[in-house]
Parts: sequence; C-alpha cells; structure tokens
Amino acid sequence: MGWIDSHCHIQGEYGSQWNNSLDAIRDAAGSDVTGIVCVGTDLDTSREGIELTLQLRDLLSGYSAQTGAVSDSGVSDSTAEQTTNNLSRFGLWCTAGIHPHDAATWKDNMGELEKLITTTSDNHPGMLVGIGECGLDYHYENSSKESQMAAFAGQIKLAKEYDLTLVIHAREAWDDIFAVLATEGAPQRSIMHCFTGGPDELSTALSFGAYISFSGIVTFSNAANIREAAKECPPERILIETDSPFLSPTPNRGKPNRPAWVALVGDDIGALKGMSRATIQDITYSNTLRAFKITTPNETGH
Ligand SMILES: [Zn+2]
Repeated sequence: MGWIDSHCHIQGEYGSQWNNSLDAIRDAAGSDVTGIVCVGTDLDTSREGIELTLQLRDLLSGYSAQTGAVSDSGVSDSTAEQTTNNLSRFGLWCTAGIHPHDAATWKDNMGELEKLITTTSDNHPGMLVGIGECGLDYHYENSSKESQMAAFAGQIKLAKEYDLTLVIHAREAWDDIFAVLATEGAPQRSIMHCFTGGPDELSTALSFGAYISFSGIVTFSNAANIREAAKECPPERILIETDSPFLSPTPNRGKPNRPAWVALVGDDIGALKGMSRATIQDITYSNTLRAFKITTPNETGH
C-alpha cells in the first residue's frame, strides 16, 4: 500500500526546492509514498494546490503508461521499478482554506473560497477533500484572535455544508479550539493536523471525533508529551504527515521537508506503537482515506 502524506504543501512558493512539481512526487514514490494531500493556506495557495493536483494527476496518468521511465535517473533497476509502480498508483488530493495567520482576510475572501470549493467539486468530483487548514494560532497571532475565531467558525460551517473534512491547525490555543468546536458543533470529519498536544488534549480532540495527525515533531527529542499522546491514540484515529516544506523530522532538521520523509514519521510512530512497518502503513493509509472520505484511492485522473 505504501505511505500517504496526509498534509503537505508542495504548490507554488512552497515547492521552490523542486525543479518541477513532478520531482516532489517522484522523490516521494522512491521512498514508498503512494499518496499525498496538498493543503491550501489562503486563497492563492488553495488555487495553486488545486491546479497542481490536476496537473500532476494528468502527468501521472500518462507517466504510468511509460515503462522504465525512471531508469534514466541512475537508480538501480529494482528501485526504479518500484518507483514507477508507485507512480502508476499514486493518489493526489487537495484542500482549500484560510490559515489562521491570514484570518484577517476571511471576510473579504470567504465568498471566493466558497466559489472555489463548489466549482472544483463540480468539475472534479472527489478531488478536493477538505476545508483548511484553518484554526487558531496564538503563538504568532498574525491575525487578531477575534478574526481567527470568526474564520475558524466560518470554515467549520463550510465543512459541514459541503460534507468536507475540516483540517485544523491548533497552536497554543487549545481552549478556544475546543470552545469554537463545541459552539459550532464538530463537523462530520475533522483532523487535528500536526498534533502538538499531550494526552489531555488528545482525549478532548477524540471526544469531538477528530483524527490525530502526527508530524516530524514527534521525532524531536523534546516531544515527550506528544509521544505519550501517540502511544495512547487509538490506532484507528492516527494519521501521519510531513507538513512539507516545514518541520523536517530528525535527522533532517533544518532542511526543507519533503513528502518522502513521511516514512520517518511513520517509522517513529510504528516503533512507539510496537507495530511493523507494513501494519503502520496500512493503518495510516486506510485512516487517511476514511478521514477524507476518499473513495477513489488510486485516482490519477484517468
Ligand atoms: Zn500545513
């Protein structure tokens, strides 16, 4: 089945480490990654993520027909074969939303965001699978708390209305995250992306029905609390992600992150849970499909 990166940004400026976007996917496929969800953070990056997903689906549908196309890169034949095989079944999806950093733009952009969601869903059913990332970030507080709460509440409403999965960014704002979820009512499916809480926040998040997505932070030496939460998290609620190009896992800290490194997060979580690589791959892959209500796992745009 391979790994799936449930949350990354490889569109536009976020993907500047690559010569072209297919390189990011080829690199991922070489590390046994067979799916990614490309996440929007504002109107522009949401649009770029949608366009990139379409473009890559198209490229991959042609690519999968070319046998041996990867051998040119100089990797061994068996690795090349595996990469080609992974590319031929690679799954690509995207989300659209407004990050709490940009919450001040919510009122001006909410109409456009909704239009983007409906148009994309009409033209490419099943490709746009989530609203977000959205939520509250009181660490940076780039937008006022009031505007962050309004943008978060508004995107909860959108997730419910269009039956999409809510991708939640929560940083140093747990009380208000849970308060807004309680007031608005949790959507049918939600994900606590890049989970940075401990066992207490875990149990409250689970009580709202959320999936818990662990990032490279779990590999950091000062993350004892998060590791404890990972140990306690029920297997059927665990997702893994890179949040590329941010948050590179140990031993790659300081470098731009890439979807290929979701394997490092997965192996770490597998070790914490006492699970084999195959088991943690299967669990996180099927959880991600369920979390985003994805019914076409190997869709490449055929
Ligand atoms: Zn992100």
